[in-house]
Amino acid sequence: MMRTETFSFSIHATAGAARAGVFTTPHGAVETPAFMPVGTLATVKALDPRELHEAGARMLLANAYHLHLRPGEEIVAQMGGLHRFMGWDGPILTDSGGFQVFSLATLRTVTEEGVEFQSHVDGSRHIFTPESVMAIERALGADVIMQFDHVIPGQSDYATAREASERSVRWLERCERAFARDAGCGMRDATGSWGKDPASEAVPRPASRIPHPAQALFPIVQGGIHAELRREAALAIHDMGDWVGYGIGGLSVGEAKPEMYTMLEVVDGVLPTDRPRYLMGVGFPEDLIEGVRRGVDLFDCVAPTRMGRNGTAFTSEGRLNVRRAELRTDEQPLDRECDCATCARFSRAYIRHLFAADEMLGPRLLSLHNVHFLMTLMRTARDAIATGAFDAWSRAWLDRYHSRPVSVP
Ligand SMILES: [Zn+2]
Repeated sequence: MMRTETFSFSIHATAGAARAGVFTTPHGAVETPAFMPVGTLATVKALDPRELHEAGARMLLANAYHLHLRPGEEIVAQMGGLHRFMGWDGPILTDSGGFQVFSLATLRTVTEEGVEFQSHVDGSRHIFTPESVMAIERALGADVIMQFDHVIPGQSDYATAREASERSVRWLERCERAFARDAGCGMRDATGSWGKDPASEAVPRPASRIPHPAQALFPIVQGGIHAELRREAALAIHDMGDWVGYGIGGLSVGEAKPEMYTMLEVVDGVLPTDRPRYLMGVGFPEDLIEGVRRGVDLFDCVAPTRMGRNGTAFTSEGRLNVRRAELRTDEQPLDRECDCATCARFSRAYIRHLFAADEMLGPRLLSLHNVHFLMTLMRTARDAIATGAFDAWSRAWLDRYHSRPVSVP
Protein backbone atom coordinates (compact mmCIF):
# COMPACT_ATOMS: atom_id res chain seq x y z
CA MET A 1 0.00 0.00 0.00
CA MET A 2 1.25 3.43 -0.98
CA ARG A 3 0.56 6.25 1.45
CA THR A 4 1.44 9.89 1.83
CA GLU A 5 -0.12 12.31 4.24
CA THR A 6 -2.91 12.98 1.83
CA PHE A 7 -2.76 10.39 -0.97
CA SER A 8 -2.88 6.61 -0.80
CA PHE A 9 -3.57 3.67 -3.06
CA SER A 10 -4.50 0.24 -1.80
CA ILE A 11 -5.19 -2.86 -3.87
CA HIS A 12 -7.91 -5.15 -2.56
CA ALA A 13 -7.96 -7.85 -5.23
CA THR A 14 -6.24 -8.77 -8.48
CA ALA A 15 -7.05 -10.93 -11.50
CA GLY A 16 -3.98 -11.32 -13.70
CA ALA A 17 -2.82 -7.75 -14.30
CA ALA A 18 -6.27 -6.32 -13.40
CA ARG A 19 -6.65 -4.73 -10.00
CA ALA A 20 -9.49 -3.56 -7.75
CA GLY A 21 -8.26 -0.78 -5.49
CA VAL A 22 -9.00 2.46 -3.71
CA PHE A 23 -7.23 5.72 -4.60
CA THR A 24 -7.55 8.20 -1.74
CA THR A 25 -7.09 11.94 -2.33
CA PRO A 26 -7.58 15.05 -0.17
CA HIS A 27 -11.11 15.29 -1.59
CA GLY A 28 -12.13 11.70 -1.02
CA ALA A 29 -11.61 8.17 -2.21
CA VAL A 30 -12.15 6.65 -5.64
CA GLU A 31 -12.78 2.95 -6.04
CA THR A 32 -10.79 1.67 -9.00
CA PRO A 33 -10.90 0.82 -11.81
CA ALA A 34 -12.78 4.04 -12.46
CA PHE A 35 -13.79 6.28 -15.31
CA MET A 36 -13.45 10.05 -14.85
CA PRO A 37 -15.94 12.18 -16.82
CA VAL A 38 -14.28 15.13 -18.53
CA GLY A 39 -15.22 18.66 -17.57
CA THR A 40 -12.90 20.42 -20.00
CA LEU A 41 -13.95 23.95 -19.06
CA ALA A 42 -14.81 23.07 -15.45
CA THR A 43 -18.13 21.62 -16.59
CA VAL A 44 -19.01 18.15 -17.81
CA LYS A 45 -21.02 19.41 -20.73
CA ALA A 46 -24.77 19.65 -20.00
CA LEU A 47 -24.55 17.77 -16.68
CA ASP A 48 -24.95 19.09 -13.13
CA PRO A 49 -22.32 17.82 -10.64
CA ARG A 50 -25.16 16.38 -8.55
CA GLU A 51 -26.30 14.28 -11.50
CA LEU A 52 -22.74 13.10 -12.04
CA HIS A 53 -22.45 12.00 -8.44
CA GLU A 54 -25.77 10.17 -8.64
CA ALA A 55 -24.53 8.46 -11.81
CA GLY A 56 -21.58 7.12 -9.81
CA ALA A 57 -18.86 9.60 -10.81
CA ARG A 58 -16.32 10.15 -8.02
CA MET A 59 -13.45 11.95 -9.78
CA LEU A 60 -13.65 14.52 -12.56
CA LEU A 61 -11.14 15.90 -15.01
CA ALA A 62 -10.67 19.51 -16.07
CA ASN A 63 -8.21 21.03 -18.49
CA ALA A 64 -5.43 23.51 -17.77
CA TYR A 65 -5.18 24.74 -21.38
CA HIS A 66 -8.87 25.58 -21.68
CA LEU A 67 -9.13 27.10 -18.19
CA HIS A 68 -6.01 29.18 -18.75
CA LEU A 69 -7.64 30.70 -21.84
CA ARG A 70 -11.10 31.01 -20.25
CA PRO A 71 -11.61 32.28 -17.56
CA GLY A 72 -7.89 32.26 -16.55
CA GLU A 73 -6.44 30.47 -13.56
CA GLU A 74 -6.29 33.70 -11.51
CA ILE A 75 -10.07 33.96 -11.59
CA VAL A 76 -10.53 30.31 -10.62
CA ALA A 77 -8.06 30.78 -7.76
CA GLN A 78 -9.78 33.96 -6.62
CA MET A 79 -13.06 32.10 -6.56
CA GLY A 80 -11.60 29.56 -4.15
CA GLY A 81 -10.11 27.03 -6.57
CA LEU A 82 -11.59 24.57 -9.00
CA HIS A 83 -13.60 22.49 -6.51
CA ARG A 84 -15.49 25.48 -5.18
CA PHE A 85 -15.73 27.22 -8.56
CA MET A 86 -17.43 24.27 -10.26
CA GLY A 87 -19.36 22.98 -7.25
CA TRP A 88 -17.69 19.59 -7.05
CA ASP A 89 -16.40 18.41 -3.64
CA GLY A 90 -14.84 15.21 -4.93
CA PRO A 91 -11.38 14.59 -6.38
CA ILE A 92 -10.39 16.47 -9.53
CA LEU A 93 -7.51 15.92 -11.95
CA THR A 94 -6.26 18.56 -14.36
CA ASP A 95 -4.64 17.67 -17.64
CA SER A 96 -1.64 19.86 -18.37
CA GLY A 97 -2.65 21.10 -21.79
CA GLY A 98 0.06 19.18 -23.62
CA PHE A 99 -2.51 17.39 -25.74
CA GLN A 100 -4.50 20.58 -26.47
CA VAL A 101 -1.45 22.67 -27.36
CA PHE A 102 -0.48 20.06 -29.93
CA SER A 103 -3.99 19.30 -31.22
CA LEU A 104 -6.09 22.47 -30.92
CA ALA A 105 -3.80 25.46 -30.95
CA THR A 106 -2.39 26.78 -34.21
CA LEU A 107 0.99 28.12 -35.28
CA ARG A 108 2.99 26.25 -32.70
CA THR A 109 6.69 26.72 -32.18
CA VAL A 110 8.21 23.95 -30.10
CA THR A 111 11.60 24.48 -28.50
CA GLU A 112 13.34 22.84 -25.59
CA GLU A 113 12.12 25.75 -23.47
CA GLY A 114 8.44 25.14 -24.21
CA VAL A 115 5.70 25.76 -26.77
CA GLU A 116 4.56 29.08 -28.18
CA PHE A 117 1.09 28.86 -29.67
CA GLN A 118 -1.96 30.81 -30.73
CA SER A 119 -5.16 30.34 -28.78
CA HIS A 120 -7.88 28.46 -30.70
CA VAL A 121 -10.37 30.88 -29.11
CA ASP A 122 -9.12 34.32 -30.12
CA GLY A 123 -5.74 33.84 -31.79
CA SER A 124 -3.85 35.43 -28.87
CA ARG A 125 -0.27 34.27 -28.36
CA HIS A 126 0.77 32.20 -25.34
CA ILE A 127 3.83 30.34 -24.15
CA PHE A 128 3.57 27.15 -22.14
CA THR A 129 6.66 25.87 -20.38
CA PRO A 130 6.85 23.10 -17.78
CA GLU A 131 7.19 25.82 -15.14
CA SER A 132 4.28 27.96 -16.33
CA VAL A 133 1.99 24.95 -16.62
CA MET A 134 2.82 23.91 -13.05
CA ALA A 135 1.89 27.43 -11.91
CA ILE A 136 -1.41 27.21 -13.80
CA GLU A 137 -2.29 23.80 -12.39
CA ARG A 138 -1.21 24.91 -8.94
CA ALA A 139 -3.54 27.89 -9.09
CA LEU A 140 -6.45 25.77 -10.37
CA GLY A 141 -5.98 23.53 -7.34
CA ALA A 142 -6.96 20.05 -8.57
CA ASP A 143 -5.94 17.06 -6.43
CA VAL A 144 -3.92 15.41 -9.20
CA ILE A 145 -2.05 17.51 -11.74
CA MET A 146 -0.38 16.19 -14.87
CA GLN A 147 3.06 17.10 -16.14
CA PHE A 148 3.45 19.20 -19.32
CA ASP A 149 4.37 16.77 -22.09
CA HIS A 150 5.12 16.74 -25.82
CA VAL A 151 2.25 14.94 -27.56
CA ILE A 152 2.56 13.63 -31.13
CA PRO A 153 0.15 11.98 -33.59
CA GLY A 154 -0.49 8.27 -33.03
CA GLN A 155 1.25 7.07 -36.17
CA SER A 156 4.45 9.10 -35.70
CA ASP A 157 7.67 7.47 -36.82
CA TYR A 158 10.36 6.28 -34.46
CA ALA A 159 12.57 9.38 -34.63
CA THR A 160 9.69 11.77 -33.99
CA ALA A 161 8.37 9.61 -31.15
CA ARG A 162 11.82 9.38 -29.58
CA GLU A 163 12.38 13.13 -29.66
CA ALA A 164 8.96 13.85 -28.10
CA SER A 165 9.25 11.11 -25.51
CA GLU A 166 12.72 12.15 -24.37
CA ARG A 167 11.68 15.79 -24.27
CA SER A 168 8.67 14.83 -22.14
CA VAL A 169 11.03 13.19 -19.63
CA ARG A 170 13.21 16.32 -19.54
CA TRP A 171 10.13 18.48 -19.11
CA LEU A 172 9.04 16.19 -16.28
CA GLU A 173 12.26 16.99 -14.43
CA ARG A 174 11.51 20.70 -14.78
CA CYS A 175 7.86 20.19 -13.75
CA GLU A 176 8.97 18.32 -10.68
CA ARG A 177 11.45 21.02 -9.66
CA ALA A 178 8.85 23.77 -10.11
CA PHE A 179 6.23 21.70 -8.30
CA ALA A 180 8.52 20.81 -5.39
CA ARG A 181 9.40 24.48 -4.88
CA ASP A 182 5.81 25.21 -4.02
CA ALA A 183 3.94 22.07 -3.08
CA GLY A 184 5.81 18.88 -2.62
CA CYS A 185 3.51 15.91 -2.74
CA GLY A 186 4.68 14.61 -6.08
CA MET A 187 7.42 12.27 -5.12
CA ARG A 188 9.43 11.02 -2.22
CA ASP A 189 12.55 13.04 -1.43
CA ALA A 190 16.00 11.61 -0.78
CA THR A 191 15.30 11.03 2.90
CA GLY A 192 12.37 8.80 2.05
CA SER A 193 9.75 11.07 3.55
CA TRP A 194 6.91 12.56 1.62
CA GLY A 195 6.39 16.25 1.73
CA LYS A 196 7.96 19.59 1.08
CA ASP A 197 11.27 20.10 -0.53
CA PRO A 198 13.32 21.65 2.32
CA ALA A 199 14.68 24.22 -0.12
CA SER A 200 11.14 25.48 -0.66
CA GLU A 201 10.87 26.73 2.91
CA ALA A 202 12.94 29.73 1.90
CA VAL A 203 10.45 30.73 -0.77
CA PRO A 204 7.72 32.91 0.71
CA ARG A 205 4.20 32.19 -0.41
CA PRO A 206 2.65 34.95 -2.50
CA ALA A 207 0.24 37.11 -0.57
CA SER A 208 -2.86 36.27 -2.54
CA ARG A 209 -6.12 34.42 -2.15
CA ILE A 210 -4.76 31.47 -4.10
CA PRO A 211 -5.45 28.32 -2.07
CA HIS A 212 -2.61 25.93 -1.41
CA PRO A 213 -4.12 22.47 -1.37
CA ALA A 214 -2.16 19.25 -1.27
CA GLN A 215 -1.60 18.07 -4.80
CA ALA A 216 0.08 15.11 -6.48
CA LEU A 217 2.03 15.48 -9.70
CA PHE A 218 1.66 12.56 -12.11
CA PRO A 219 4.31 11.93 -14.78
CA ILE A 220 3.18 10.81 -18.25
CA VAL A 221 4.72 7.87 -20.07
CA GLN A 222 5.01 8.70 -23.79
CA GLY A 223 6.75 6.81 -26.60
CA GLY A 224 4.14 6.51 -29.36
CA ILE A 225 3.55 2.99 -30.62
CA HIS A 226 7.18 1.94 -30.19
CA ALA A 227 7.63 -0.66 -27.48
CA GLU A 228 11.29 0.20 -26.93
CA LEU A 229 10.50 3.90 -26.44
CA ARG A 230 7.60 3.16 -24.10
CA ARG A 231 9.81 0.90 -22.01
CA GLU A 232 12.62 3.47 -21.91
CA ALA A 233 10.23 6.28 -20.95
CA ALA A 234 8.61 4.21 -18.19
CA LEU A 235 12.02 3.23 -16.83
CA ALA A 236 13.38 6.78 -16.94
CA ILE A 237 10.33 8.10 -15.08
CA HIS A 238 10.42 5.25 -12.59
CA ASP A 239 14.12 5.85 -11.91
CA MET A 240 13.51 9.55 -11.36
CA GLY A 241 11.54 9.05 -8.19
CA ASP A 242 8.69 7.53 -6.28
CA TRP A 243 5.55 8.98 -7.85
CA VAL A 244 2.07 8.95 -6.35
CA GLY A 245 0.70 7.67 -9.67
CA TYR A 246 1.52 7.40 -13.37
CA GLY A 247 -0.14 8.68 -16.52
CA ILE A 248 0.06 6.79 -19.79
CA GLY A 249 -0.37 9.28 -22.63
CA GLY A 250 -0.31 9.50 -26.39
CA LEU A 251 -2.62 6.56 -27.00
CA SER A 252 -6.02 6.46 -28.70
CA VAL A 253 -4.74 9.20 -31.01
CA GLY A 254 -5.10 7.42 -34.34
CA GLU A 255 -3.12 4.22 -33.86
CA ALA A 256 -4.70 0.76 -34.31
CA LYS A 257 -6.25 -0.68 -31.15
CA PRO A 258 -3.98 -3.74 -30.96
CA GLU A 259 -1.02 -1.34 -30.93
CA MET A 260 -2.48 0.50 -27.96
CA TYR A 261 -3.07 -2.78 -26.09
CA THR A 262 0.52 -3.86 -26.76
CA MET A 263 1.86 -0.57 -25.40
CA LEU A 264 -0.20 -1.05 -22.23
CA GLU A 265 1.37 -4.48 -21.73
CA VAL A 266 4.85 -3.03 -22.16
CA VAL A 267 4.19 -0.28 -19.63
CA ASP A 268 2.49 -2.69 -17.21
CA GLY A 269 5.73 -4.65 -17.11
CA VAL A 270 7.78 -1.64 -15.99
CA LEU A 271 5.63 0.58 -13.75
CA PRO A 272 5.39 -0.31 -10.05
CA THR A 273 2.26 -2.35 -9.38
CA ASP A 274 1.37 -0.53 -6.17
CA ARG A 275 0.66 2.86 -7.77
CA PRO A 276 -2.43 3.93 -9.72
CA ARG A 277 -2.03 4.02 -13.51
CA TYR A 278 -4.12 6.46 -15.52
CA LEU A 279 -4.67 5.85 -19.23
CA MET A 280 -5.32 9.28 -20.70
CA GLY A 281 -8.09 10.05 -23.18
CA VAL A 282 -9.45 6.53 -23.48
CA GLY A 283 -13.15 5.95 -22.86
CA PHE A 284 -14.85 3.54 -25.23
CA PRO A 285 -16.36 0.62 -23.29
CA GLU A 286 -14.28 -2.05 -25.00
CA ASP A 287 -11.07 -0.06 -24.40
CA LEU A 288 -11.87 0.34 -20.72
CA ILE A 289 -12.16 -3.42 -20.32
CA GLU A 290 -9.03 -4.08 -22.38
CA GLY A 291 -7.21 -1.45 -20.30
CA VAL A 292 -8.36 -2.88 -16.95
CA ARG A 293 -7.21 -6.28 -18.15
CA ARG A 294 -3.74 -4.77 -18.68
CA GLY A 295 -3.43 -3.12 -15.27
CA VAL A 296 -4.98 0.33 -15.80
CA ASP A 297 -6.88 1.91 -12.88
CA LEU A 298 -8.13 5.28 -14.14
CA PHE A 299 -9.53 6.47 -17.46
CA ASP A 300 -10.96 9.68 -18.88
CA CYS A 301 -12.50 10.62 -22.20
CA VAL A 302 -14.96 13.06 -23.71
CA ALA A 303 -16.59 10.15 -25.58
CA PRO A 304 -19.65 9.56 -23.37
CA THR A 305 -20.73 13.20 -23.39
CA ARG A 306 -19.63 14.05 -26.93
CA MET A 307 -21.38 10.99 -28.33
CA GLY A 308 -24.36 11.73 -26.11
CA ARG A 309 -24.67 15.19 -27.62
CA ASN A 310 -24.39 13.70 -31.09
CA GLY A 311 -27.13 11.12 -30.55
CA THR A 312 -25.20 7.92 -29.87
CA ALA A 313 -25.82 5.74 -26.83
CA PHE A 314 -23.53 3.10 -25.38
CA THR A 315 -25.48 -0.11 -24.73
CA SER A 316 -24.46 -3.58 -23.60
CA GLU A 317 -25.14 -4.72 -27.18
CA GLY A 318 -23.07 -2.06 -28.92
CA ARG A 319 -23.68 1.55 -29.89
CA LEU A 320 -27.16 2.81 -30.66
CA ASN A 321 -27.84 5.78 -32.93
CA VAL A 322 -30.99 7.29 -31.45
CA ARG A 323 -31.86 9.25 -34.57
CA ARG A 324 -32.76 6.12 -36.51
CA ALA A 325 -36.24 6.06 -37.98
CA GLU A 326 -37.10 2.60 -36.63
CA LEU A 327 -36.94 3.94 -33.07
CA ARG A 328 -39.93 6.22 -33.79
CA THR A 329 -42.32 3.97 -31.81
CA ASP A 330 -39.76 1.97 -29.79
CA GLU A 331 -41.01 1.76 -26.21
CA GLN A 332 -37.81 0.23 -24.81
CA PRO A 333 -35.29 2.16 -22.76
CA LEU A 334 -31.90 2.85 -24.39
CA ASP A 335 -30.52 -0.24 -22.65
CA ARG A 336 -32.79 -2.73 -20.86
CA GLU A 337 -30.07 -3.52 -18.34
CA CYS A 338 -29.32 0.09 -17.42
CA ASP A 339 -30.69 1.59 -14.21
CA CYS A 340 -29.80 5.22 -14.95
CA ALA A 341 -32.26 8.07 -14.51
CA THR A 342 -32.76 8.24 -18.30
CA CYS A 343 -33.50 4.55 -18.83
CA ALA A 344 -35.77 4.41 -15.78
CA ARG A 345 -38.15 6.99 -17.22
CA PHE A 346 -37.83 7.52 -20.96
CA SER A 347 -38.28 5.45 -24.12
CA ARG A 348 -36.09 5.34 -27.18
CA ALA A 349 -39.01 6.82 -29.08
CA TYR A 350 -39.11 9.88 -26.80
CA ILE A 351 -35.34 10.42 -26.95
CA ARG A 352 -35.41 10.05 -30.73
CA HIS A 353 -38.15 12.69 -30.83
CA LEU A 354 -36.06 15.06 -28.67
CA PHE A 355 -33.14 14.77 -31.07
CA ALA A 356 -35.33 15.11 -34.15
CA ALA A 357 -36.87 18.27 -32.68
CA ASP A 358 -33.47 19.59 -31.55
CA GLU A 359 -34.60 19.80 -27.92
CA MET A 360 -31.76 20.26 -25.41
CA LEU A 361 -33.12 17.61 -23.06
CA GLY A 362 -32.11 14.97 -25.62
CA PRO A 363 -28.34 15.53 -25.38
CA ARG A 364 -28.64 15.84 -21.61
CA LEU A 365 -30.47 12.54 -21.16
CA LEU A 366 -28.11 10.73 -23.49
CA SER A 367 -24.96 12.17 -21.87
CA LEU A 368 -26.26 11.13 -18.48
CA HIS A 369 -26.96 7.60 -19.70
CA ASN A 370 -23.53 7.25 -21.33
CA VAL A 371 -21.67 8.45 -18.22
CA HIS A 372 -23.75 6.15 -16.01
CA PHE A 373 -23.07 3.28 -18.42
CA LEU A 374 -19.28 3.63 -18.07
CA MET A 375 -19.51 4.04 -14.28
CA THR A 376 -21.56 0.87 -14.03
CA LEU A 377 -19.19 -0.95 -16.35
CA MET A 378 -16.19 -0.10 -14.16
CA ARG A 379 -18.06 -1.00 -10.97
CA THR A 380 -19.04 -4.36 -12.45
CA ALA A 381 -15.44 -4.97 -13.55
CA ARG A 382 -14.31 -4.16 -10.01
CA ASP A 383 -16.79 -6.63 -8.53
CA ALA A 384 -15.68 -9.28 -11.01
CA ILE A 385 -12.03 -8.79 -10.03
CA ALA A 386 -12.96 -9.11 -6.37
CA THR A 387 -14.90 -12.35 -6.90
CA GLY A 388 -12.33 -13.95 -9.20
CA ALA A 389 -14.70 -13.86 -12.17
CA PHE A 390 -13.02 -11.07 -14.13
CA ASP A 391 -11.44 -13.10 -16.91
CA ALA A 392 -14.63 -14.97 -17.84
CA TRP A 393 -16.82 -11.90 -17.32
CA SER A 394 -14.67 -9.60 -19.47
CA ARG A 395 -14.48 -12.10 -22.32
CA ALA A 396 -18.24 -12.65 -22.28
CA TRP A 397 -18.88 -8.89 -22.08
CA LEU A 398 -16.64 -8.12 -25.05
CA ASP A 399 -18.11 -10.97 -27.14
CA ARG A 400 -21.59 -9.65 -26.59
CA TYR A 401 -20.62 -6.02 -27.20
CA HIS A 402 -18.86 -6.81 -30.45
CA SER A 403 -21.28 -9.45 -31.75
CA ARG A 404 -24.43 -7.42 -32.06
CA PRO A 405 -23.84 -3.77 -32.78
CA VAL A 406 -27.38 -2.38 -32.75
CA SER A 407 -26.31 0.45 -34.99
CA VAL A 408 -23.14 2.40 -35.49
CA PRO A 409 -23.48 5.99 -36.63
ZN1 LIG B 1 -29.34 4.29 -19.04
